[in-house]
Amino acid sequence: MVVVQRRELTFWERMYLPEIVRGLVITFKKMFEPRVTRQYPEQAMPTTAVTRGQPRLTVKDDGNIACVSCGLCEAACPAYAITIDGKETDRFIEREPERFDIDMLRCILCGFCEEACPKEAIFMSNELELANTTREGLVYDMEQLKRSTSTLQPRIDYVRKINDRW
Ligand code: SF4
Ligand code: SF4
Repeated sequence: MVVVQRRELTFWERMYLPEIVRGLVITFKKMFEPRVTRQYPEQAMPTTAVTRGQPRLTVKDDGNIACVSCGLCEAACPAYAITIDGKETDRFIEREPERFDIDMLRCILCGFCEEACPKEAIFMSNELELANTTREGLVYDMEQLKRSTSTLQPRIDYVRKINDRW
């Protein structure tokens, strides 16, 4: 038969004092460390060019939308979030969207639309916030999706840099 010899606890160990002191030291140290709690929404999430927020459509400097309504992003979207109807134009670029909707409730922010687009017409913006009181209100139409090139420039530069690697 094996007899387990238990060590006798010292007086201080029986009082749990070392553990209490150690715990208080940790608490005291943590009081002086930088806080990680963010006071949202007053304190917005920091974003960078790498942030993959909601997709937005590029409007060129001449005021025309960059999209030529090719439908590649619609085909690439795994969530079936994009709906496009194209129309003819009088400009050199023959087509543009008549309707371009993104159902933001379906969008999973995967960025496939950005990758599929041959015209640098859709980019993942740094816009993260999404709220509405109705489902219909979260189906964004073309006017809600349009952003100037300068607004999307940091992301455009980042995507170009990534693509240059290949
Ligand atoms: S980010 Fe992904 S899910 Fe959202 S619209 Fe683009 S392809 Fe679809
Ligand atoms: S892939 Fe680009 S050009 Fe083609 S429909 Fe989508 S946004 Fe427009």
